[in-house]
Order: sequence, then structure tokens, then C-alpha cells
Amino acid sequence: MPENKKSRAILKWPSPRQAYFSCENYKEAFPAVPFWKEMCYTGSIFDEVLRVTNNMNYFSGNMNLVENKGVTYLTFPALEAFPFVRHAFSTRLGGVSQEEYASMNLNFGRGDPDENVRENYRRFCNAVGFDPHTLVASAQDHHTFIRRVTAENRGIGIWKPKDMQSVDGLITNEPGVTLVTYYADCVPLFFVDPVKRAVGLAHAGWRGTVAKIGEEAVKAMQREFGTDPRDVFAAVGPSIGPCCFEVDTPVYEEFAGQKELSPQEFITADGGGKYHIDLWEANRRILLQAGVPDAQISVAKLCTKCHSDLLYSHRASGGKRGGLAAMICLEEA
Ligand SMILES: [Zn+2]
Repeated sequence: MPENKKSRAILKWPSPRQAYFSCENYKEAFPAVPFWKEMCYTGSIFDEVLRVTNNMNYFSGNMNLVENKGVTYLTFPALEAFPFVRHAFSTRLGGVSQEEYASMNLNFGRGDPDENVRENYRRFCNAVGFDPHTLVASAQDHHTFIRRVTAENRGIGIWKPKDMQSVDGLITNEPGVTLVTYYADCVPLFFVDPVKRAVGLAHAGWRGTVAKIGEEAVKAMQREFGTDPRDVFAAVGPSIGPCCFEVDTPVYEEFAGQKELSPQEFITADGGGKYHIDLWEANRRILLQAGVPDAQISVAKLCTKCHSDLLYSHRASGGKRGGLAAMICLEEA
């Protein structure tokens, strides 16, 4: 990664534009760019960043925004540090899908023709460096079952039919098997055990968060690979943020009941029976409880709803949307 060419190039940023920051977390996510405080957030800000940085990787503080071969994606620096791991989180940029699916839709079954979604997978894999034939996708129906997959499962959910009912998390210790999970506001969780050489992904919607799917994933890695939670590096990816995840009393009560997580630390009451929940912090606390060290947990702090120009958001789009994907694999030696 071109360390010296990162944020310095951003200082060439042109004159300020009209608009405003829609999300306080934006500034948190981009601490290297303090002058953005006076700057304006427009729908094209990421394109501009990519342009002025001359297509160099841009380090956001929490995630890298990378452009390669016309595809823009996000990675975690903490996971990039492992040369035997390849991972990425997609954005909307660089695909072939149209209208509400524009353009890098990686979700089947939402009305976008399957051939578009498959072409998007090919483009995404080509840009990030995954072999598209190694993909294995979960089903994701808001359960907490974690499935161990192997080379035999490659192609499922992308090139072959899904057979992952009730599976919301995938783990593997086989190189050359690329795990895939889908998102559009829910929380992506990434796992790397550099000691036992294993990786995992889990889809934590609010139900999955309440059911502690993050802990389930760590337990599954313990059971299947002998993982010590103290060795695990975990990352909480882009999702709907505390700025935008407003809930009513029934959902609030599910979270408030998790006393062992100190829910007052991630719930804000707005009055009138409305609450804001910080799913990032809830998941971080669940990972800590599962034994993952604090220093080994990265949190993207990037809100899908605030940045629905870059990321699909179910809430921002009223459900008319494509889908993002998290992917991770162990590299073949
Ligand atoms: Zn937000």
C-alpha cells in the first residue's frame, strides 16, 4: 500500500461545496481529513476522493477505500496485515446493474437479473483478487447457525443453488474457499485466527446481534479448529449506524434485556417510545465477551444509511435496493 501517497494528496481537494455532513460518524471515520469539517458531504464525495488521490488507496482511519479495475471496495487495515488472508467489503461502485440496483449488486433474488449479479461477482473478484469459482455464499435468514465449509461447497449460492438454509455465518480453515455473506444495513462481522489459520464471516442483523451471532462464530471456530479466542482478530463492518438505527419499544426491550453487555452504553432514548441503538458497540461488546481482545477488534463506523450513495441501505431505499457482500478467504500457498 502506498503509505506516503495517502491523505496528503487529499489536500489538493477543490473548493468547498454546498451541503453538509449528514452523519457525525463520518468525521470519526475519516480523522485524517480534519478540513472536511468545513467541507461538504455530497453524493459524489467518494468519486472525488478517488479522483484527487489519483486512484491511490485512501486510508480512512478505520477502513481503506480502494479502487481497482473500476471497482471500489473497502478493507480493514488490521486484516490486511495477514498476508495469507484476502478480504473485502463491496460498495455500490463498479458493477453493471441498473436503477435501484446500481451498480455493484451482489444479491440474487431482488429483481435484478441473475446474469447482472453474476457479472458483478466476476468484476468484484477480478478487482479484489478472489477466484470467483471458490465462492461459497450463506442463505441468511436471521438465524445464528454457523456452518463450516470446505472446497466441496465451492460455488454454492453463486454458480450453484443455495443449500444453506438457516445459515448466517460461515467458517473455514481451507485455503481457496471464499466465504460470502450479504448486507444492506445489517452488521458484517469478519474473523481471522492467524494461529490456527482459519477465517469466518457472520451476518448480524438486529436479531442476530441480540442472539449473539458474533459469539456463536467464535465458539464455532473454537469447536471446529481449536481456535483460542485470544488469538482472534475481528472486524465490525459498515452497517446502519447509531445515527440512523431508530427502533420502537419491542426491539429496544430485546437489547435492554442484555444486562451483561451494559446496554446503557449502546442505547439512547429519544423519548416518545423511540430509541437509537448502536449495533457496532453491541457487537463489539459481544466479541469482547466471547474472549476477543479489545485491541484486536476493528470497527468501521461507516453508516450505510448516511452513505447510501456508496453503500446499499435497506432503510434509506425503502427496500428497493441491491446488496453488498463481505468476502474473506485464506490464500492458497
Ligand atoms: Zn447514519
